Amino acid sequence: DRRTLPTTVRDDFPFFGSPEGTGLAYLDNAATTQKPAAVLAAVTDYYTTANSNVGRGYYRLSQTSTERFEAARETVRRAIDAEHPDEVLFTSGTTHAVNLLAATLGRRLVGPGDRMLVTGMEHNSNLLPWRRLAEQTGAELVAVPVDADGRVSADVFAAALGPRVRLAAIAHVSNVLGTVNPVREMIAQAHRHGVPVVVDGAQAVPHRQVDVRALDADFYCFSGHKVYGPMGVGVLYGRRDLLAELPPYQVGGGTVKGVSLTEPVRYLTGPPRFEAGTPDVAGAVGLAAALSYLDGLGWAGIREHDRTLVRHAVRVLGALDGVRVVGDPARDPAGIVSFVVEGIHPYDVGGQLDRHRIAARCGVHCASVFLDDLGLLGTVRLSFGVYNTLDDVDRVAEAVAGVRPGFWTTEHPTTRFL
Ligand code: PMP
Repeated sequence: DRRTLPTTVRDDFPFFGSPEGTGLAYLDNAATTQKPAAVLAAVTDYYTTANSNVGRGYYRLSQTSTERFEAARETVRRAIDAEHPDEVLFTSGTTHAVNLLAATLGRRLVGPGDRMLVTGMEHNSNLLPWRRLAEQTGAELVAVPVDADGRVSADVFAAALGPRVRLAAIAHVSNVLGTVNPVREMIAQAHRHGVPVVVDGAQAVPHRQVDVRALDADFYCFSGHKVYGPMGVGVLYGRRDLLAELPPYQVGGGTVKGVSLTEPVRYLTGPPRFEAGTPDVAGAVGLAAALSYLDGLGWAGIREHDRTLVRHAVRVLGALDGVRVVGDPARDPAGIVSFVVEGIHPYDVGGQLDRHRIAARCGVHCASVFLDDLGLLGTVRLSFGVYNTLDDVDRVAEAVAGVRPGFWTTEHPTTRFL
């Protein structure tokens, strides 16, 4: 047995028993993960036994639904070790969470001539909201450069902190290279300057037990669908005292206690202030089931599984002529390995993998600023989930070994919109 999690893990995922999933090496987990039966069952069970709107009705069913929603919040709180459940806001995903923060925290803190820090490796979802805020406010957005090994050093980050910096937004794990930033040290440095930090944890939460208190994170965002939960739900963790200072984002049903046309509007505090309209209750319930599922697998096994697959991938790909693994993903594995094949466009490699029933992402991974900085047209990215095997990796190596320059004749997109 070459796995570090039980081989039965794959059986937990009905997708792999479907016609599309059978025999597929699904290696695009950084884009989205497959869903275990426990998650599908939790969603179905919610809709079958408790479906009604939350926080509104005074009948029993509505209370049941509200209780399920709040139980999901508590499960998330426990999973990330937040102090209070009301520090967990449900959003539609990481993108929504960052936009919420840019429009509330950002608008409150940032003015003309101020600075905001991001890192040079940000996904567009943790770049464009700040970029737009900079344009709207006359502030400056500064990208802290990434080291040669694909990480941001805490010292380089510290050197960028200064009197004009009002906030920082940083990736925990790179969705391009799978490298892990020293976020705890970066946050400590920022706090020395009184700068709050937003962490984009979209690629961290599926691969390590994140503890927002140990990190001393002010805000921490992630997506449900990348951590084996449903699409359409995500989390914004915010420290209670910091959330209390934020204005509402979207306003509407559920955010106020009584409104008149003339009196000043009094918005609620806590999650209802930020969860306008009907939330994705089933999504939250499914996300909680996903986090419980991972907890049941055990983080030690998940980490070991990641380590085994990443190191194996680095070894077998590195042994191929003309193949270069980008960065140093084996140093502190987080389930992602990016590589390039000399003289061959990443889309050609991706096409070849697809012919071998291997699903892997190729291109710029919504991070063209980073790819430009790396001097690359794109990469081929393997991103692992708990159900992947060493055999999946070996299949990639075999397929890549068969790729020759000019072998493939795809028309490449000229604009890199991905
Ligand atoms: N940040 C990172 C690092 C990501 O990898 C992604 C998804 N690729 C996002 C943000 C955006 O997540 P979502 O599309 O779920 O909002």
